Amino acid sequence: MNQLQSKKAFVTGGTRGIGKGIVLALAEAGADVAFTYRSSVSEANTIKEAVEALGRKALAIQCDAASMLDTQTAVDSAIEFLGGLDIVVNNAGITRDNLLMRMSEEQFNEVIQNNLNSVFNVTKAVMRQLLKQKSGSIINISSVVGISGNPGQANYAASKAGMNAFTKSVAKELGSRNIRCNSIAPGFIATEMTDVLDQEQVAKWMESVPLRRSGSPQDVANLVVFLGSDASAYITGQVINVCGGMQM
Ligand code: NDP
Repeated sequence: MNQLQSKKAFVTGGTRGIGKGIVLALAEAGADVAFTYRSSVSEANTIKEAVEALGRKALAIQCDAASMLDTQTAVDSAIEFLGGLDIVVNNAGITRDNLLMRMSEEQFNEVIQNNLNSVFNVTKAVMRQLLKQKSGSIINISSVVGISGNPGQANYAASKAGMNAFTKSVAKELGSRNIRCNSIAPGFIATEMTDVLDQEQVAKWMESVPLRRSGSPQDVANLVVFLGSDASAYITGQVINVCGGMQM
């Protein structure tokens, strides 16, 4: 399947979990990929080599997506390396869960900066290139809790709800230039982010998921490939759940 043949992609947070799955799926579908990470240097090298082994170009860039300056530099080097940009995936994200009563200002701000400011930073940084090309697909990895809310995640849920509203605004602003912007809202996807949760509690949650299992990074990556491809050319401004039916 080469539905992304000759496409050029930029992914934030590509060293672990969902981001890693996205980088590899994009490369398997034929895209060259530049991806960022914050601290996982050896994982970044391993993934770069895995993309190259698929016969695609790969660039790993150490970059804090919460920093505007870092992000502009990373995007500039990605565009130079790839020779353009077709697909942009805002995946980097963190959690700092706590009940609101105990949540510090720092925990709130850290999550907003990493999950929401990062989307602003990347979108601003890629905009000029996408406008010049008159094409592009921006894909934001949100969460079902950005729609439903979740106890202990007021910071995280607010960041993801903000991301969804940002997505719709960008879709409206840039649609006339053939630039699309969509959010993917995963449910429970088994990654390092969720490994820290009480696994007994996780098993209980799975009982209420119609498909009775957690999702995999591949489940999310499959939709990223579709939204990055020309097969989704008439889809923009949407928040699409990948959650096994957890939220309807
Ligand atoms: P992981 O914690 O497993 O991986 C996070 C990735 O993001 C890592 O590659 C990490 O890099 C990178 N990262 C984090 N912060 C930054 C930053 N400031 N700058 C650059 N890179 C950064 O998370 P998941 O794979 O589980 O989650 C990925 C996305 O999916 C997140 O946005 C998350 O909110 C969302 N999501 C996840 C769900 C789940 O159930 N797992 C459910 C719904 C949404 P490094 O390793 O170098 O720190």
